[in-house]
Amino acid sequence: MVKVAIDAGHGGFGVTPGKRSPDGEYEWNFNDKVVVAVIKRLKEYGISVLRLDDPTGKTDVPLTTRTYKANNWGADILISCHHNANTGKWGDWTGTETFTYLGKWKDAERLAGLVQNRLIGAYNLRDRGLKKDDFHMLRQSSMPAILIEGGYMDSRIDIKKLRDGKVLQAAGYAVADAVAEYFGIKPKEELTMKQYEELKKLIEEQNKIIKQQANEISALKKNKQDKPSDSHAPDPSHALAWDKATEAGIVNGKYPHHPLTREQYATIRMREKN
Ligand SMILES: [Zn+2]
Repeated sequence: MVKVAIDAGHGGFGVTPGKRSPDGEYEWNFNDKVVVAVIKRLKEYGISVLRLDDPTGKTDVPLTTRTYKANNWGADILISCHHNANTGKWGDWTGTETFTYLGKWKDAERLAGLVQNRLIGAYNLRDRGLKKDDFHMLRQSSMPAILIEGGYMDSRIDIKKLRDGKVLQAAGYAVADAVAEYFGIKPKEELTMKQYEELKKLIEEQNKIIKQQANEISALKKNKQDKPSDSHAPDPSHALAWDKATEAGIVNGKYPHHPLTREQYATIRMREKN
C-alpha cells in the first residue's frame, strides 16, 4: 500500500510567532483545511496517510519530530502544506509555488510538477513554478518530499482564495489527485446514494420477474405430470354426447377424461357399426 506522510505547516492558535495574515489569521488554519481535504481524498484512493502535525492545532510539533515520524513510518513520499508571506503587510504579490530540496531529485521533481500543475487550477493564482530550497522538511526526510506554498497570506489578491474554504478544499483534492497520478492509482468507483437506490429497485424488479417466471415454469411442469381425472362425470360441454354414447353402448360410461388407445378406438368403431 502506498504511504503518504503529510503535514500542515506550524501549529494553530498562534503557537508559532509570525505565520499569520496582517489581519491575524494563523497560517496553520489555512494549511489545515488543505491537509484535511488531501487526507480525505487520498483515503478514497485507498492510500495510507500519516499526519505529522497536531490535527487539533493545539501544539506546534517540532520539525525534527515530523521528519522522524515520516522516516520511521517508511513513507513513500512527504508533502508539507504551507501558505506564503512576504512582508507581513498587505501587498499585491501573488502566486502558487512548489518546492523540492536543493540539487537534482528526479522523483520529488516529478511529484512537484504534477502537484503544481493541479494546484494552479485549484487556487487559480499566478504560477510561480517549481522552486528549490533548504527547508528542514525537504532536507531531513528520506523519501521524495515537496513543500507547497498555496498563496500569500499577506496578499490582497491571494487572501480571497485563502479565506474561501471551497478553494482550500479544491487545493487539497488537487494535491491528492496529483499523488494518485504520481503512483498511477485509479480512483475507486463508488455509487452515489441515488445510484444505489436505483440499482436496488432494478434488482428487486428483476427478482420479482424471475420469481414469477419460476412459478409459471413449475406450474407448467406440474400440469404436464398431471394424470387425467378419474372422475366419471364428463365436462358439461361433452355431457350430452357422452350420455348418448353410453346409452348406445359405444363407451362404457367410465373415465370420460382418460385418453383413448388404438385398441379402444377399434372397439368403439365396431360398436358403432353394430
Ligand atoms: Zn509556512
